[in-house]
Amino acid sequence: MNDIRPIPGSSTASPVLVDPFGRQISYLRVSVTDRCDFRCVYCMSEHMTFLPKPDLLTLEELDRICTAFVTRGVEKLRITGGEPLVRRDIMNLFRSLSRHLDSGALSELTLTTNGSQLARFAKELASYGIKRINVSLDTLDPAKFKALTRWGDLSKVLAGIDAAQEAGLHVKINAVALKGDNEDEISSLMEWAHGRGMDLALIEVMPLGDVGTERVDQYLPLSLVRARLAETYTLEDIDFRTGGPARYVSVKETGGRLGFITPLTHNFCEGCNRVRLTCTGTLYMCLGQEDAADLRSPLRASSSNELLYTAMDNAIARKPKGHDFVIDRRTSQPAVGRHMSHTGG
Ligand code: SAM
Ligand code: SF4
Repeated sequence: MNDIRPIPGSSTASPVLVDPFGRQISYLRVSVTDRCDFRCVYCMSEHMTFLPKPDLLTLEELDRICTAFVTRGVEKLRITGGEPLVRRDIMNLFRSLSRHLDSGALSELTLTTNGSQLARFAKELASYGIKRINVSLDTLDPAKFKALTRWGDLSKVLAGIDAAQEAGLHVKINAVALKGDNEDEISSLMEWAHGRGMDLALIEVMPLGDVGTERVDQYLPLSLVRARLAETYTLEDIDFRTGGPARYVSVKETGGRLGFITPLTHNFCEGCNRVRLTCTGTLYMCLGQEDAADLRSPLRASSSNELLYTAMDNAIARKPKGHDFVIDRRTSQPAVGRHMSHTGG
């Protein structure tokens, strides 16, 4: 597809962004901070070094890059992190980006959050046109929650989910399937989510960054989880998609939907429509590869967007075919050195 649209403020027309494999980039994930009020064992190490604050893009700069992507055909924006709701004044970014929902250029503005600050922000998010959010929650056991997040408080997250649902937000729960940690709890987590009208998506742990633990000790293949669930529940494959890589089944007994995000057991890169921007303006064309493009320099070099668009074009021209994640006893190195909190999950 080569839809031609004019770039505002420019005499040139610009195509939407299409990579060398013909995949149109319609989805941008933006990590607005690499900081977080949790230290989940599969995401961060206990002692993290965070980016120096002066390196961060301002909220205005983040808005400008997001807007450039929207102009070039991005229709879906997900704000993530780190924990996006701990970034100071983050509501200003949601408010200003909501103009692209009003104009119809964006079909969805959404976020992924650990839920700790949701009770404070749910209503305001809904007022800016956010309709669906993802809340990450791996267990409903308070002690296990504390152990997995190191710093988290389950009651705050549950209060946040209550507030989000009261504000009319459609909540999807994301849970990383973790060997030994929550593997016995997956059916109860699913029953709980479905009982509250929420989808549950399970995620395979990915080898991103050194977290001080062998990944093979965390990794639980979802093929195994599915087979186990199928002993108790009737799972039917359905076509339901949310624009991401999750493949869904409906669960007859609960009436709910269960998603499987399987970067390891089933590589889904062929349909990848997304790129990821960090809070310092680095664009990653693939979650599982090191190659990246600096968008901060062209952004700051000129108040017009020509240099930025050129850097975006050059970056998308390098989008790789896919990741090559491996988790086994022989491969102890992470696939990439950076943590998920840096690139934005
Ligand atoms: N702090 C927010 C949260 O937890 O939802 C947003 C950022 S977090 C990095 C985004 C998602 O990535 C979460 O659902 C988290 O469980 C997931 N995640 C983090 N590290 C991961 C890893 N190594 N493998 C798979 N998923 C991971
Ligand atoms: Fe923070 Fe989310 Fe990473 Fe947990 S998964 S440490 S909540 S960024």
